[in-house]
Amino acid sequence: MMNDLLDKGAVLQRDKESYAIAPHIPAGLVTSDQLRKLADVADKYNVAAIKITAAQRIALVGLKEEDIDSAWDDLGMKPGAAIGLCVRSIKTCPGTTFCKRGFRDSVSIGLKLDDRYHGMNLPNKLKIGVSGCPNSCSDNHTRDIGLMGMPKGWTVFVGGKGGKMPRLGDRLLMNVPDDKVLELVDEVVNVYANNATGKERLGAYINRIGFDEFESMFDLDKFLQ
Ligand code: SF4
Repeated sequence: MMNDLLDKGAVLQRDKESYAIAPHIPAGLVTSDQLRKLADVADKYNVAAIKITAAQRIALVGLKEEDIDSAWDDLGMKPGAAIGLCVRSIKTCPGTTFCKRGFRDSVSIGLKLDDRYHGMNLPNKLKIGVSGCPNSCSDNHTRDIGLMGMPKGWTVFVGGKGGKMPRLGDRLLMNVPDDKVLELVDEVVNVYANNATGKERLGAYINRIGFDEFESMFDLDKFLQ
């Protein structure tokens, strides 16, 4: 039976014979050169579709298996972590870099999180959403770790997810300053990596031990000014 090709970053499609590839595009910011290259590769290999994904990537859909390696060579881009038990997308809104409603610089924090975590192996997939204001355009409430920009700092949510049994993230802390929020995310990732059982997602782990117990594992005062 044909499967996803993890090592090639290729996802088997519904026809069970062609693949989709989606390059890593940190914070969803793509250059015009990259767009031209994606269009050239799409034409060269006659893909079935160019699809903008929910993870802020651009997927080339309907590649033949024998074209996957050369398509990646032509693109000169790395695969996005679209499959496997690892940190997947770090969904990032325009924040104060571009959006008039933003309270915080979600692009800068999103890029730093991407640099630290994208593709990191963990007990299960882990998604992060970074929104510059409560409008939550990066779906921070339904991400394993969600950051929501507020006038006085970041509100940090943990354990959110979508799917058949959706779960809203629990609010771990409010008003976390920019220079402390990465450290707090680090601790959340470490607690999850070291304590989850089997393939538990972060929300399932919190459900098992209870949010009060989870919260007690952090010295939260040190993350406030
Ligand atoms: S979450 Fe807020 S800052 Fe980010 S894009 Fe939406 S409205 Fe703008």
